Amino acid sequence: MKQFAYFLILICLGLSETALSQNLNTAEKELILSGDTTTMLRVLQYNNPADLLVLNTPSSNIDPSDPLLPLLASRMFKSMLDSANPGVGISAPQVGINRNAFWIQRFDKSGKHYEFCINPRIVKYSILHRKGGEGCLSMPGERGLVYRSYAIQVEYQTLNGETRKEMLDDNTAVVFQHEADHLLGWLFPDRMREQQGVFFMQIPQGMEFYIRPGFNK
Ligand SMILES: [Zn+2]
Repeated sequence: MKQFAYFLILICLGLSETALSQNLNTAEKELILSGDTTTMLRVLQYNNPADLLVLNTPSSNIDPSDPLLPLLASRMFKSMLDSANPGVGISAPQVGINRNAFWIQRFDKSGKHYEFCINPRIVKYSILHRKGGEGCLSMPGERGLVYRSYAIQVEYQTLNGETRKEMLDDNTAVVFQHEADHLLGWLFPDRMREQQGVFFMQIPQGMEFYIRPGFNK
C-alpha cells in the first residue's frame, strides 16, 4: 500500500513537471519556423492592441530540450541586436511566444557577453534597491525610473541542459528583473505603477558603500 502511494506521488510529480514545461504548440512552431537563424522575429509593440494582449499574458515554462528552442533563441538574438533599435535583453513574449525564456547582456562578464536563460526564476531579492532609468524594445523612445533590487539570486536552464544558480548584481540584475517582469506579462510602466506609494527609505547621506568584485560566491 505504501509503495502504491509512492508510485502515485511519482506519477503526480511527473504529470506536474510535464504540465509546467510543455513543448511548443502549432502556432508557436509556425511563428518560429517563419524564418531561419539569419532573420529576426518582429518585436511586439505596446501601442498595438493585439501586441499588448500578448505582452500582458503571463508566460509558461518550456522544455529546455525542445528542438525549436535554439532557432527561437537565434532569431530573438537578432531582434535584440537589430541595429535600428538595439537592446540589452529580450524576452520570448516580446516576439510573440509566451514562454519563459529571455536573453540578457552580462555586464559582469568581459566583452559583449549575452546569455539565454530558460525557465528563469528569481529565488531571492536584496532589500537594497537602486533606482535607474529603463527603456524597452517594445516601447521605443519611452523611459522611466524603476526601483530594482541591487542583487538577486537566480536559477535558470541553458540550451545545453545545464541548470545554473547564480547571484547577480548591478546592471545585470536590473536587466534580469526587467526581463523576468515580461514573463509575468508586465512592462516597466506596470512595475512603476506597482511602486507608486511604496515607501523606499533612502540610505542616510554619508554612508559609504563599496563593491568587492568577485565576492558574490
Ligand atoms: Zn522590455
